[in-house]
Amino acid sequence: MSDAASRSALPLGATIGILGGGQLGRMLSLAASRLGFRTHIYCPERDSPAFEVTPHKTVAAYDDHAALGKFAALVDVITYEFENVPAGTAETLAALKPLHPGANALAVSQDRLAEKTFIGGLGIPVAPHRAIRDAADLAPALAALGGTGILKTTRLGYDGKGQRRVASLDDALAAFADLRPHPLVLEALVPFEREISVVVARSQDGATAAFDPAENVHRDGILATSTLPAAISDATAQLAREHAGAIVAALDYVGILGVEFFVLADGSLIVNEIAPRVHNSGHWTEAVCITDQFEQHIRAVAGWPLGDPTRLADVVMENLIGDRIGAIPAGLGPGIRPHAYGKAESRPGRKMGHLNRVPPKMPRK
Ligand code: AMP
Repeated sequence: MSDAASRSALPLGATIGILGGGQLGRMLSLAASRLGFRTHIYCPERDSPAFEVTPHKTVAAYDDHAALGKFAALVDVITYEFENVPAGTAETLAALKPLHPGANALAVSQDRLAEKTFIGGLGIPVAPHRAIRDAADLAPALAALGGTGILKTTRLGYDGKGQRRVASLDDALAAFADLRPHPLVLEALVPFEREISVVVARSQDGATAAFDPAENVHRDGILATSTLPAAISDATAQLAREHAGAIVAALDYVGILGVEFFVLADGSLIVNEIAPRVHNSGHWTEAVCITDQFEQHIRAVAGWPLGDPTRLADVVMENLIGDRIGAIPAGLGPGIRPHAYGKAESRPGRKMGHLNRVPPKMPRK
């Protein structure tokens, strides 16, 4: 792709290819339709939630390069809803059509060590950590990190999977045996006061727009709620936006990126991880922002100008996990915006939908 071709604005009626057919792909597809685009979803699972909202689909494996080639021929630009797109898949697609965000964002965010090295290299704090290549690395790493930590797989961890807290060498050896054969990283336990995230967009011409920081509560490693505003100072909110802006600029990024932070008692920030996609902690933007994260992502990948991320009201987003989906419609009141993902089967730990609770009055400035 020439630079000029990849940076031109997509016309109405163009087709956006989306890798991944989960709820994020579904919400991206709905936003794209509203803007006048078609979407084509590529996903290996036949019963994917995103297939219900567009007639254009490919059911094939991510390493089926013939199917990837056909898919690329049918679309004008390609994006994705998950960070574990295999490197070879991204390479094949990027050679055929513009791929946003680019393969560099995937490479950095797929590997916790590469991610920490990259973010630390920008002068942004990350948790103290040590690479664990074999069992002999555990004792010196534990000693260096104060005797406790979280042992994590460097790749393919999500929603708290692929990680174990350890408080002794015996714990660490047991966790090592469980988590093998993945490469691992031991992180110091960060004594955070709260967790926040910033969802930031960057356009093809380099403009950025960050949503307000959300305060996130996790249960069993899965996001439970995001609350706006976060209980942080203006200075901490500003710092979080600056860090998120620096990360997307350094990646020459196009689209939405989620940045998760730990907030320490003194208001300083540590980046936990980044996700090169629309983010669960940005679902609140649907209900209370002039432009929500899904529209913003589509605008960016389409080469359109970004929208205004201003938040118009306070809001609490609650994930509906497993049988909590019963809150739609049973638990609905007038100030609640529901979103069900259309998944046929509810299972414990499965994200089935979310609610955005908006208080009746506008916030006082
Ligand atoms: P992750 O999969 O890295 O996002 O971790 C899931 C959750 O585990 C985070 O949202 C935190 O609540 C907790 N956690 C992860 N890493 C650390 C750490 N280094 N120190 C303290 N808590 C952590």
